[in-house]
Amino acid sequence: MLTIGVDVGGTGIKSALIKVGDVKCADTYEILDFSSMPTQASEGSEVVVRNIIKSIERYDWQKCDLIAVASAGTIDWDSGTVTFATATIPGYAGTELSRILTEYFGRRVVVINDAVGALIGESFLGAGKKAESVMMFTIGTGLGGSFLAEKTLDANSVIDTKSGHMTLHEGGRKCTCGKAGCAEQYVSATALKKYGNDNLYQLFRSSDAAEKKVKVEFFKDLARVICESAGQYRPDLVVIGGGVIELSEYWWQNFLKEYKRKCDVPIASASLGNKAGVLGSVYAMANGAFKNQ
Ligand SMILES: [Zn+2]
Repeated sequence: MLTIGVDVGGTGIKSALIKVGDVKCADTYEILDFSSMPTQASEGSEVVVRNIIKSIERYDWQKCDLIAVASAGTIDWDSGTVTFATATIPGYAGTELSRILTEYFGRRVVVINDAVGALIGESFLGAGKKAESVMMFTIGTGLGGSFLAEKTLDANSVIDTKSGHMTLHEGGRKCTCGKAGCAEQYVSATALKKYGNDNLYQLFRSSDAAEKKVKVEFFKDLARVICESAGQYRPDLVVIGGGVIELSEYWWQNFLKEYKRKCDVPIASASLGNKAGVLGSVYAMANGAFKNQ
C-alpha cells in the first residue's frame, strides 16, 4: 500500500511517499519520494499547519491509504492534539492537529510526537531492530528524548522522556520552556551554533581552542543527559539521532571515549538518518498503534 509520512521539526518539514508491503516486516518499507521544506516555525501555528498541508499535497495523497505525522511538541496519543509546545512555534500548544488534518483531507490522519516517531522508526526499522527496549535522543533544533519499554505500540509503551528539559546546569542558560539550565540549551544544534560556530560542519572539524572547548563540553553534557536518563529507564540500547548525527563521522568516536567513561549502556548512532520520523510514524499507524485518533 501507499502511505505518506510527515516529520515536523523546528527547522524543516520532511515528507515522504512510502510504499509498504507486509506492515510488520521492516524490509518492505520503501521510500519512493522524499522532500523537505522550511517549517517557518517563528511565523506561528497557522503557517506551520498550512505548511504541513502543503508537504502532504506534494504527493498524490488521494491514492494513499495512510497519512501519519510526527510533530514537534507534546502530542496526546489519543487525540493527536498538541498539548505542549515551546516558543519555537508560537501558538502551537492547543492545536488540534489530527482533527484539522482529518477534516481538511477528508480521511484519517494520525499525529504523534516527532521524537517518538523517530524512536519507533529506529526501534522497528533501524539501529534498534534487535533490541527489546530502546531509548532515543534526537539532537536537532532542540533535544528530544523518548523510550520504548517493549516492542509493542501503544501509549503505555512509548514514553516521552522530556530529556531536553531536564535541568542539566542549575540556574544556567534560559530555556524556551521558561526554566533555566535545561539540557537542550547545551545539547542541541541550536546551542552548538550559538556558542560554537554557526556552521556545524566547520565546528566539528575545527581545531580552534575555543571551539574545541565547546565540543568537549557538548560531549560531557550529552554523556550526562544519557547516563541520567538511562539510569532511570534502563534501556537495552541507546540510539542517538537528529540533524547533528548527520555529521557523526567528525565527532562520534571522540564522544564515545567520554561516554564510555560514564556509562555502560550500549549505544548506537541512528541508521535511518533524517528519515526515521517519516518511517516511524507510518510504521506506527500501519501497525494499528492508534485506536482513538
Ligand atoms: Zn526547557
